[in-house]
Amino acid sequence: MVIKNAAAETRYMIRCCYCKQTFAIESAVAPWQMSNAAALAVVERHAAVCPTTTKRLEFRAHGRVERFIDVARDVLTADWKIETVNGRYNPAIKCGARCLNAKHGDCECSCGGAHHGEGMVAA
Ligand SMILES: [Zn+2]
Ligand SMILES: [Zn+2]
Repeated sequence: MVIKNAAAETRYMIRCCYCKQTFAIESAVAPWQMSNAAALAVVERHAAVCPTTTKRLEFRAHGRVERFIDVARDVLTADWKIETVNGRYNPAIKCGARCLNAKHGDCECSCGGAHHGEGMVAA
């Protein structure tokens, strides 16, 4: 069970370089500073829908599943593109689906980045 501390968490937009899918994570720790276990949890969630990610894990771990944990952070930070949400407040642009389902980190709307990419956070 994860207790969510909204104040300390940052939303990161992550784009898989293989399948080009974008998703978001909310984390108090930047992906490149995560423990290997935390990184593996992120990578495995995406690997469930992206066979290429599993292949990359296998390739980096030299085919040894028990070594996935050692290479997960490399897949997360070296193989995937990570953007932090960069919000700019603009009351003239109403926040909506476009902001919630954003695929890139830059945001300009009435939420100032607060909801940017929220709909892309993996459950
Ligand atoms: Zn993918
Ligand atoms: Zn917004």
